[in-house]
Amino acid sequence: MKTIAIANQKGGVGKTTTAINLSAALAIEGRKVLLVDFDPQANSSIVVGLGPNSHAKTMYDVMSDPRVTISQVIQPTNTTDLFSAPANLNLAACEITLVNTAGRETVLKRSLSEVSEHFDYCIIDCAPSLSLLTVNALMASDEIFIPIQMGYFALEGVQHLMTIIDLVKSDLGHTDLRIGGVIITFYEKRVKMSQEVLERVRSFFKTLVFQSVIPRTIKLDEAASYHQTIFDYSPRSTGARAYRNLAAEVIKR
Ligand code: ADP
Ligand code: MG
Repeated sequence: MKTIAIANQKGGVGKTTTAINLSAALAIEGRKVLLVDFDPQANSSIVVGLGPNSHAKTMYDVMSDPRVTISQVIQPTNTTDLFSAPANLNLAACEITLVNTAGRETVLKRSLSEVSEHFDYCIIDCAPSLSLLTVNALMASDEIFIPIQMGYFALEGVQHLMTIIDLVKSDLGHTDLRIGGVIITFYEKRVKMSQEVLERVRSFFKTLVFQSVIPRTIKLDEAASYHQTIFDYSPRSTGARAYRNLAAEVIKR
């Protein structure tokens, strides 16, 4: 199982949209995929339609109760080969409960190791923060994918994320952790700034930037509002094509 954290401490850059639709695209390509919702906002749990009143166990239970294993939390989705480990708002409490846990940075890593034989990919949708939860996600991951939203502030804060990655490598000993790719999101072909920013991001991250860029398109937003992947909501849309192309690149890398 290859584990990939979709991380950027900025909110609204397309982490969740990418986590859901990249996971779905990999599943459509025949890979077995586990999508871990690691954001208390729980937006990527929508693919399993888990309502706030559900009594099902979530990632909160996995992170806070050693008796709960991740297999007890994993649920099938409407997409064949795509499975979800959902979250809810309770996950936010882990920031406090984890502090006194032995090996607090590696709780997720240890729980995922139990299912590593069952999946080809594990995609972790991270919270928009550089918290203990995000550190757990990085410790559990082989690679980080960083979505970058086209706009004037595109690279703002990226240095901070790089510092955290370096700390996880040097201080926590996860020396193999690497940036696996940078994903351009909200790209607008006809907007000059989009092209300028794309050039800037390419000159900063070089070949790490995926060739497939994700366009700004209302269809991706609508799909989420209908609790669907883009492939169920609008399989022929430019958004669907972009995420399929991205999945193909991910498989090749
Ligand atoms: P994050 O997880 O980084 O906070 P989201 O994936 O939740 O970001 O995206 C923020 C908002 O923008 C959501 O309402 C989402 O539906 C919308 N969105 C994400 N990607 C796109 C896109 N490429 N085009 C248009 N809207 C998008
Ligand atoms: Mg999100």
